[in-house]
Amino acid sequence: MTYNTSLLNKRTEKIKQKRLIGHLKRGTGGPTLIFFGGIHGNEPSGVSALDGLFNTLERRKNEFQVNGEIFGLCGNLPALKGGVRFVDRDLNRLWTPPELDRIFEGNVNDLKSEETEAFEIYHLLREILLNSAPPFYFIDFHTTSADTIPFITINDALINRKFAQQFPVPIILGIEEYLEGPLLSFINTKGYVCIGFESGKHSDPVSITNSEAMAWLCLQQAGVFKEAPSDLFTEQNRVLENATKGNTHFYEITFRESITDSDNFMMYPGFENFDWVKKGVLLANLNGEEKEATKNTLIFMPLYQKQGEEGYFYIRRIGNWALRLSARIRKLKAHKWITLLPGIRGTKEGGLGVMVDLRVARFFSKALFHLLGYRSKKIDKNHLVIYNRELMANSDMYKDCPWYK
Ligand SMILES: [Zn+2]
Repeated sequence: MTYNTSLLNKRTEKIKQKRLIGHLKRGTGGPTLIFFGGIHGNEPSGVSALDGLFNTLERRKNEFQVNGEIFGLCGNLPALKGGVRFVDRDLNRLWTPPELDRIFEGNVNDLKSEETEAFEIYHLLREILLNSAPPFYFIDFHTTSADTIPFITINDALINRKFAQQFPVPIILGIEEYLEGPLLSFINTKGYVCIGFESGKHSDPVSITNSEAMAWLCLQQAGVFKEAPSDLFTEQNRVLENATKGNTHFYEITFRESITDSDNFMMYPGFENFDWVKKGVLLANLNGEEKEATKNTLIFMPLYQKQGEEGYFYIRRIGNWALRLSARIRKLKAHKWITLLPGIRGTKEGGLGVMVDLRVARFFSKALFHLLGYRSKKIDKNHLVIYNRELMANSDMYKDCPWYK
């Protein structure tokens, strides 16, 4: 993390106090786990779950022997207070370099509500990364407007895949290609393990239970407990297994119906997350135009609330063979040779991005870049910039962790 936040140093304690749901530190080494709840203000389940977690850790402290550090952080405080997704703009869509440059280089007094929130959260994260011990884990709790089984979203780096696979929950890969500026993608570019956990529907109390179960299992997998009640993790595993009905598949997003504030979007009732829909089924109405499924597909995150930038997604299941193949292919270290291919060259700015000229490299599909460990971003009709996820990942930090092997 590189921005100068010295302006905030005096206020650190105050920021910490108002954002900390809980904090526990035992021993001198890592791991350090940072949990977020309420990045979206209409999703308070994560905050309640973390509250429950820290309460139990305190109440039953004699039964636990902890080694490491745990933070529970509140996301969007003004929006949580108002029970809305956001006040001025989505706090989970502004973590891009140009936005952060603007926030940190501009006048603090001109910042919008969520920009101030991002400013403070950035500062806290920087403090934690400077003062706490690796390996670091970031877990962000969310809920959805539609009925859903719990699921994990990750940027598709192998460290994330391996960690996410430790939980009895389906995993959605590559959402970052479709979303601009989620917090976890930003932290991912710094190389850390990050997982998003969507625990259920906003208003469903089970969402709190699921998030709390996930938090316990994350602590266990990260190796925080030297000692803990033996049946605790079996029980928390069972909570998630029951909630997901045994679904532990990997999926990838293939389409996003994007909408803006000025659009008039209405999802037709009755769709649940992961529902199978047939081609031609009416899904939604966008500005008076009927939107139908353009193919047989699984529907993902149908939007049943006013605020949001995605109407719905399509997803498809990824076969185990494809997962194994891509893990193997990533060992070929594509970054060393990919610019030798026709139509692919380094970007002017250098760094981790590579420019693809689609007029020349039209035979290389997005699927191939995914296999090689790249995520892509469309620049214009003829160009993609692709980023190597594995180069960004700080795999060395995790190589001795039991789940990594
Ligand atoms: Zn959310």
